Amino acid sequence: PKKPSNNILKDPVGVYCRVRPLSQDDQECCIEVISETTIQLHPPDGIKVNRNGEFKETQYSFKKVFGFNTTQLELFEDVAKPLVDDLLHCKNGLLFTYGVTGSGKTYTMTGSPGQGGLLPRCLNMIFNSIGPYQAKRFVFKTDDKNGMEIQTQVDALLERQKRENQSALIKTPKYLQKIYNNYIYDLLEETPFEPIKPKPPQSKILREDQNHNMYVAGCTEVEVKSTEEAFEVFWKGQKKRRIANTQLNRESSRSHNADGDNVLQEKEQICVSQLCLVDLAGSERTHRTKAEGNRLREAGNINQSLMTLRTCIEVLRENQMYGTNKMVPYRDSKVTHLFKNYFDGEGKVRMIVCVNPKADDYEETLLVMRFAEMTQ
Ligand code: ADP
Ligand code: MG
Repeated sequence: PKKPSNNILKDPVGVYCRVRPLSQDDQECCIEVISETTIQLHPPDGIKVNRNGEFKETQYSFKKVFGFNTTQLELFEDVAKPLVDDLLHCKNGLLFTYGVTGSGKTYTMTGSPGQGGLLPRCLNMIFNSIGPYQAKRFVFKTDDKNGMEIQTQVDALLERQKRENQSALIKTPKYLQKIYNNYIYDLLEETPFEPIKPKPPQSKILREDQNHNMYVAGCTEVEVKSTEEAFEVFWKGQKKRRIANTQLNRESSRSHNADGDNVLQEKEQICVSQLCLVDLAGSERTHRTKAEGNRLREAGNINQSLMTLRTCIEVLRENQMYGTNKMVPYRDSKVTHLFKNYFDGEGKVRMIVCVNPKADDYEETLLVMRFAEMTQ
């Protein structure tokens, strides 16, 4: 019998689907929601999908499908609220949107005025739930030498002191280290815009401030007291993202840090949990963007990092199914490197697959569906 795998995906990725409404400019629709959990793809006229040239209709199942009538609130309650509950109970979580450009990823994550997405709703819930004894730190950053692999990542770090009788769990410090070590742009750093330099393995990554709160050296952390304040910071980072085109060229060093581990062990009353919300770049293939030069390279890289995500999920699934221990190539891209601990750890991973039902997107949507199918 084979040794049990260390790479087993403990709690499978929960995959949801959100179908946005057809916009007024588009007439033909290629998606039909046929049940709470299933959608059907209809190939538009002229598209032949199998070798015999016959049309094929395909159904795809999800943990839940959110049709075009779904409100932002409904989506929050079903998908994100359980993760915020976990965060408040010292459990980690990762939630990301996946889909082609225009499919509603940013609408879902950030929202529009009056139609706040998951991010402001999570922030509201956090601020309404935590007490004054808890330090609040929000770190807004984006990632990678190509600038655009991850469009936006928001981490909410809740650090709180364990009260007597409160059985708060102590989380592994690796979470913090991994993320901060991962050649990440600090979107809140004042000019010049520079990547955070990795610390050598001996240097401290986690430190403790006067109030016994843990923090990571070198990354701008802004204390915010309300959702509004948090969002102000978020927009500031977003603005910076647009002008960011700095190149990063060094490999990430190993994230293990003995000093950091010791700090946490000494401070066993500290509980750190992390919820990571990620709005990924569009999943479409390069040609669709009709990009040239730098833009083309960027689009190619987006594709590459999402390909790596795909490979990692494939290997994880294989390990899970066959009890093998194949190495998952997390380090091949920053996105997967960032996701590693969530995939390997105990935190929940949730993906919202966003789709635009317009017929023009049919072929890309088919690829998105195949990815989603494989992930579950
Ligand atoms: P993406 O981030 O995937 O490229 P966006 O979130 O920017 O796509 O959505 C593209 C456009 O469609 C935006 O104008 C957005 O407001 C609109 N949109 C997306 N999803 C919805 C939805 N569920 N309801 C209403 N409008 C939506
Ligand atoms: Mg977007």
